[in-house]
Amino acid sequence: MNKTIIVSNRLPLQIDISNDKLRITPSVGGLATGMKSVHEEGKTLWIGWSGLKEEDLDDTLTRKVDQAVAQEHCAAVSLTGKDLDNFYYGFSNRTLWPLFHYFMEYTYFENIQWESYKRVNRKFADMVLKHTDDGDTIWIHDYQLLLLPELIKRERPNASIGFFLHIPFPSYEVFRTMPWREELLRGMLGADLLGFHTYDYERHFLSSVRRILRLDTHFNEISYEGRTIRVDSFPMGIDYRKFHNAAIAHGRQNEAQKSDLQKRLDTHLLSTPGAKMILSIDRLDYTKGIPNRLRAFEYFLEKYPQFREKVRFVLLAVPSRSNVPQYQLLKKETDELVGRINGRFSSVSWTPIWYFYRSMPFENLIDLYTSCDVALITPIRDGMNLVAKEYIATRVDQSGILVLSEMAGAAKEMNEALLINPNNFEQIADTLKRALEMPVEEQAERNAFLQQRLERYSVDKWAGEFLKALRATRKLHHVMV
Ligand code: UDP
Repeated sequence: MNKTIIVSNRLPLQIDISNDKLRITPSVGGLATGMKSVHEEGKTLWIGWSGLKEEDLDDTLTRKVDQAVAQEHCAAVSLTGKDLDNFYYGFSNRTLWPLFHYFMEYTYFENIQWESYKRVNRKFADMVLKHTDDGDTIWIHDYQLLLLPELIKRERPNASIGFFLHIPFPSYEVFRTMPWREELLRGMLGADLLGFHTYDYERHFLSSVRRILRLDTHFNEISYEGRTIRVDSFPMGIDYRKFHNAAIAHGRQNEAQKSDLQKRLDTHLLSTPGAKMILSIDRLDYTKGIPNRLRAFEYFLEKYPQFREKVRFVLLAVPSRSNVPQYQLLKKETDELVGRINGRFSSVSWTPIWYFYRSMPFENLIDLYTSCDVALITPIRDGMNLVAKEYIATRVDQSGILVLSEMAGAAKEMNEALLINPNNFEQIADTLKRALEMPVEEQAERNAFLQQRLERYSVDKWAGEFLKALRATRKLHHVMV
């Protein structure tokens, strides 16, 4: 019986150990949710890192972890602290992440980190090979594992291998600066199907393949070592029903059921009638454009003083990769900007920015999404951006305006949002004004289209479409052979 294997850097679960006892909680991230329908079919195995360092586990604990993850249909790849420093925080997050998001000035090219990246991809390959037979279907995820498709294809030539990149693929002119560009492309070409969020990322990839490897491409197909590889775009969706239904349930809450955060939000709205709330939610990452957004908001308050005391900006920044230096600098810059803007504009009864630096449980995210009139999402570069989609999904009465950066992959499917260039403060300020003054009929008209599309292309549809295309690729092979 052929199996389906999912491979990602992290397993979709969180393991906590206390007194040699393990507690396993499933993750709720986008990928874990998206793969749920696939993983729950029962014939799948998910391979990834458990989140625990090799040094922190003795033999007994390692065995316990292996057994516990096996019960969840998972297998753990073992990584050392050094692997994490060089492969994860190093090559993945200080080379690939910034370069693929066009932050060339943040990109380090270090041989030690590259060597570690190769070693860790080999570790993943060994684990995959241990668990697969030649006819299996293997779906590999994301930028930490670019070399894995080739490592597997070499030893399992008849396996169907799919690869999906969750971040942008940059233009050839940026990608070509990578010292190991050929190896990375050849690594990816081990796959039979390569998926990207948007057509632009797909196009950039094909152009790098043509210009760096000098391979022929025909529409979205590449001929390589006697195989035909397909490249396509599959924009990732969200679990629309989960967010929409949670928002409906939220609307029915009585006073006693409300969270402290919701009570605070309600108090604010009651104390300042007619006041509007603007929301942004992201990991504190330089790609998300948080300082730009704050400066644009400051400019908005300068240019349109009539909105002072009438709007509040709720900024939720989730801690992320805080041992990478650029992230520490960004935290400092964000703290200072919030302090400066609040210091400059606050009055006795009004603070323009409410700033939260933490992650929030799902219920609180729903509180924020449903209470805020405008979502201001302005990444400098973003592979997709699920927050934009989640905001729209929770607007049960179809009110609310999404102001979205055109640099987010999500913008390609969300034309009815107000799209902005995140570097253009004039445009952001004017668009914010337009959003805050938009008649409810127009809001509903825009959101009806957005909601329909999001509901149709939900995340399990995304996973299903990818696997369907991967199976079709296998058929294509058989016909050609
Ligand atoms: N999110 C979360 N807790 C928080 C804030 C956000 O779980 O406190 C979730 C949010 O619901 C969304 C995801 O984190 O599903 C962020 O995904 P997105 O694509 O917007 O950005 P990424 O972090 O993947 O770059």
